[in-house]
Amino acid sequence: MILIFRQDATEEEIQGAIRKIESLGYTPHLSRGTVKTICGVTGDDRAIGESEFDQLPGVESVVRVLKPYKLASREFHPDPTRVEAGGVTIGPGTFAVIAGPCSVETEEQVEASAALVARLGLKLFRGGAFKPRSSPYSFQGLGEQGLEILSAAAKRHGLTIVTEIMSEHDVDLIGRYTGIFQVGARNMQNFALLKAIGETRRPVLLKRSMMGTIEELLLSAEYIMKGGNSHVILCERGIRTFETQTRNTLDIAAVPVIKRLSHLPILVDPSHAMGDWHYVAPASLAALAAGADGIIVEIHPDPAMALSDGKQSLNHAHFEGLMGKIRALAPHLGVQVR
Ligand code: PEP
Ligand code: MN
Repeated sequence: MILIFRQDATEEEIQGAIRKIESLGYTPHLSRGTVKTICGVTGDDRAIGESEFDQLPGVESVVRVLKPYKLASREFHPDPTRVEAGGVTIGPGTFAVIAGPCSVETEEQVEASAALVARLGLKLFRGGAFKPRSSPYSFQGLGEQGLEILSAAAKRHGLTIVTEIMSEHDVDLIGRYTGIFQVGARNMQNFALLKAIGETRRPVLLKRSMMGTIEELLLSAEYIMKGGNSHVILCERGIRTFETQTRNTLDIAAVPVIKRLSHLPILVDPSHAMGDWHYVAPASLAALAAGADGIIVEIHPDPAMALSDGKQSLNHAHFEGLMGKIRALAPHLGVQVR
């Protein structure tokens, strides 16, 4: 951190700031310019905020040099991280496609989608059993029964499950079934949940909140990694803006920005970002072109009958069509579809 003093700061005020830096255990480095006096704070100052200093008399402003997250940052870990799940290595060189229904509804529905995912040569199968619905009157998911249905279909087709966890109390239960914990947008800052998952060594797909900044997403990843779980996959799923034509606004810029700031893989969820199946294919191809490490996409054998997110779910024919385009484009970008 760097403290910039006001031009009229007195010597007493400058010395007061220096004492404050030392009292926090950091080393001050004063530099007196012809116009401005500044003071560097050395030591790992991620644990403190600008607010420690910006109210001190004589201080004009405080500039952060280190990012507030460490384990998730590129600076700390220059090589890209690859996360292994279900025989798929998620990270550079691979475009991972996770597909399946928004919610587990019936055995037949899950079987049909699992069979398609396997036939298309994919390995990662999504499906929600514990659903974070905006309304308490909407379908809330089948709970453990849903996990049983998912698990049976996944076993029949050699797939690995990706399913959402909403509470730290469900780590053991959901951990018995899932290959990748999915932390949904609404729980990006459920810190008790992040800490509990940090205690496991299971891969986790951490979705960006609809009102979360990229920095907040990386700080949430930091919570998980601080517990020792480094198998974090990030996911951009659209943020809230003034635009109403799509459910959210896909922040495609987050992909290259996160690639630069962090070593963690980043996926895109075109389904929740767009909210309308018509736009899911173009958003998926944009994700591939932008350098995302994969997508997580909702499919349904009969979207009109879906109990959640039918409007944005691809039917099986459309998903197969999208996979054809992804497979055609991927080799030009030097990535293998998994
Ligand atoms: C989901 O994947 O079904 C879901 C609820 O996504 P999000 O948390 O991004 O809204
Ligand atoms: Mn959904």
